[in-house]
Amino acid sequence: MKERWSRLSIKARLIFWYTTVLMIVLAINGVVILALLQNRRYADLDRQLREDMEVTEQMIEVGGKDTLVWWADHHHDDEDAGSGIMVEAWDQQGNLRLRRDSPGIGNLPNRPQFGVPRPSFASVTTSRGISARVVTWPYSINGLPLIIRTARSEEKIKQELAQVLLVMVLAFPFAAGFAGIGGYILAGRVLAPINRIIERAKRISAERLSERLPVDNPADELGQLADVLNDTFARLDRSFRELRRFTSDASHELRTPLTAIRSVGEVGLRTSNNEKAYRDTISSMLEEVDSLSRMVEDLLTLSRADSGAVQLRQERVNLEDLAREVLDYLGVLAEEKRQSLVMEVVESAGASADRGLLRHAIINLVDNAIKYSPPGSTVRIGVKAIRGCPVLEVIDAGPGISPEHRDHVFERFYRVDKARSKKTDGTGLGLAIAKWAVEANGGHIELETEEGAGSVFRVVLPA
Ligand code: ADP
Repeated sequence: MKERWSRLSIKARLIFWYTTVLMIVLAINGVVILALLQNRRYADLDRQLREDMEVTEQMIEVGGKDTLVWWADHHHDDEDAGSGIMVEAWDQQGNLRLRRDSPGIGNLPNRPQFGVPRPSFASVTTSRGISARVVTWPYSINGLPLIIRTARSEEKIKQELAQVLLVMVLAFPFAAGFAGIGGYILAGRVLAPINRIIERAKRISAERLSERLPVDNPADELGQLADVLNDTFARLDRSFRELRRFTSDASHELRTPLTAIRSVGEVGLRTSNNEKAYRDTISSMLEEVDSLSRMVEDLLTLSRADSGAVQLRQERVNLEDLAREVLDYLGVLAEEKRQSLVMEVVESAGASADRGLLRHAIINLVDNAIKYSPPGSTVRIGVKAIRGCPVLEVIDAGPGISPEHRDHVFERFYRVDKARSKKTDGTGLGLAIAKWAVEANGGHIELETEEGAGSVFRVVLPA
């Protein structure tokens, strides 16, 4: 049952609930109306019975020999005061001393009890099967204590209530039908935007991620849903685009050294005829293979970073020690260009980071500084703390980076000057990897540079 219910469409469930709730409200409404009507009618009837009491008290008289007579009968009065009243008068011994039943409703079911202090009202069924309302009250005439009952038929009230009930019951299926139609129209209107969202969402695929869902009313729930989905599509769109660009850039970059290896090999085969020429050919092919492996290594690092597969090993890292280690590692490159590498420790700062990743980032920065600075210049590495955060700066006296390139140098495969980078053996991935490695450790890289006035790459780690 539950399973079948959950398989129903939202529209069907809405219609069901709408109709059910409306029917329950109608039923409660009907019961309340009936109860009010009944109360009202019985109040009217009881008021009439009270008037009957007054008339009765005036009409009962003691006739001869202690008998009780009805005044109008006795005087053959034409006036019909009290003519429609059913009356019984009982004495204490339980004898019926007077009885009139001009409306003809029949005998009341039992004898009255003495000791009823005030008028009491009750509904009974008479010997003729008629529903009657009876009022009973004590009364004494000439010192004779009596108990008197008068009654009126309730049949009219019962009929009226039955008719009202019948009308309500007959109207119920129609009301249910109208409620169902109303629910159908209502559900259709409420769900129309969802259907539009479904239709549009079906059309959005990896190839058409630029399309967006319609937002009819941004303030309502459906509008918010569409907004959230649109944000998701926008993010997916961006990631897909970046992925495509990355793949095409990567293949493009890989093709260049491969083409170089191929042409060097072909030329070598065609023209070299001695051992020295072959050696030259092979060594220049190996150089290309070197740069190819470096790029593949970088691509691997980035793709591992993207997939989130890199597990950070947090440890206490002394930045000064780390910087010295990098300087030792890259010292040869600087020597080749007669550059001096200088350490400037303002404040020995420690950071909590993954040492290997941080080392990779700093190597890339210092390597760039050496690569892009002119021969004979100085590359300085500063270690200090700024507002409690450990900081490592790589300062060079190179060409600097112009404003239009500054925001882009951290992008993958972005190079300011392709020709110059090629000469300096760049892949365009170094800064992207450095940025990722520092950010994975909770820090960020700031770049201060001016064209022609050198650059400062500042690694700021969390305190
Ligand atoms: P590459 O492998 O080409 O060096 P990077 O991602 O390391 O790639 O750097 C991107 C670009 O930023 C480089 O091509 C270079 O033009 C510029 N760049 C990086 N570091 C420096 C620097 N210290 N001085 C001047 N330009 C730099």
